[in-house]
Amino acid sequence: MLKRANDTSDWNRLADHALAGELLSRNEARAVLAAGDEMILDQLAAAYRVRRHFWGNRVRLHFLLNAQSGLCPEDCHYCSQSTISAAEIAKYPMIAQEKILDAAARAARLKAGTFCMVISGRAPGERVFNKVLDAVHEVKARHDLKICACLGLLSEEQTRRLAEAGVDRVNHNLNTSESHTPNIVSTHTFEDRRQTVRAVQAAGITTCSGGIIGMGESDDDVIDLALELRRMEVTSVPVNFLIPVPGTPFEDRQELDPRRCLRVLCLYRFLLPSQEIRIAGGREVHLRSLQPLGLYAANSIFIGDYLTTGGQEPRKDIEMIRDAGFVLEKADGSEFEGDPLEDFPEHVLQTPLPVLRHPTAPHYAGPR
Ligand code: SF4
Repeated sequence: MLKRANDTSDWNRLADHALAGELLSRNEARAVLAAGDEMILDQLAAAYRVRRHFWGNRVRLHFLLNAQSGLCPEDCHYCSQSTISAAEIAKYPMIAQEKILDAAARAARLKAGTFCMVISGRAPGERVFNKVLDAVHEVKARHDLKICACLGLLSEEQTRRLAEAGVDRVNHNLNTSESHTPNIVSTHTFEDRRQTVRAVQAAGITTCSGGIIGMGESDDDVIDLALELRRMEVTSVPVNFLIPVPGTPFEDRQELDPRRCLRVLCLYRFLLPSQEIRIAGGREVHLRSLQPLGLYAANSIFIGDYLTTGGQEPRKDIEMIRDAGFVLEKADGSEFEGDPLEDFPEHVLQTPLPVLRHPTAPHYAGPR
């Protein structure tokens, strides 16, 4: 247990634990989240020791494509694509392969290492699933991109077919702790989600699973989620910060500020020292001017837009990474040499995504 939560050496001791592979105690984890605002730079410095040990100064970029939007029968309270959401978002069935390939080409030009293909819905039907497999084959044939698929609940048979098609990673978030899950969704359980992650692992595909912060959870819920992700040995952990979308049951939730977000990222680095931690949805809205500080704990971000809302301009993201002294990581894990902006055509940096996003839908749809 931390004697005091106002001593720099306390945070360094937690970093030492993490580097030694030791788990923080519950009280130590609570102390990270309960620390005063004046501690934030000391916490980040300690988290950065861990981040640097496993990830150096590299930042991995992920590019998200919402290939099917809305029309979902589930009732995830945070999600504007759910059946109970009145949010005005674009709703469209699986987009044509040509548009998927356009988006993949843009991801490659933006130097994203991973192309994430997301479809809304509880679980993919056979027709949509086959379209996903076809798109995976084509993207793989054309680009040196890792492919992450986020398709909802999956059976072992489906994850095996995804592995055969060349999918590198599947995203399926646990979202929150097991005990808080009934407060955010009633149409599926925490165990349903856990089983999908297990099916992905059984197929030998890398797992991406994280959560959403700011949904009324307690500090212990934040800790429990991280402990579960550690137990499940998830490879990549997206940390989303809820944007309360008007028209969803969580439209009035305003629980986050930039320091809280940074403390959560520091805690996740201490509890998941060697795992990829990605600042995902809500980065721009909740971290605001402190976004670059998040990179001292996390080692990857999304570039471009989110599911149904625009993200920060890619040029700003690249500049943010470069200004803080970080370097872009290639798909193979090596570093880009030289100026990362050098061969970025201006039109690639400034034009909006060539995917379908309804012009009157400024809202973030939330992660899956
Ligand atoms: S998070 Fe996924 S499963 Fe839940 S409502 Fe949204 S699209 Fe449907």
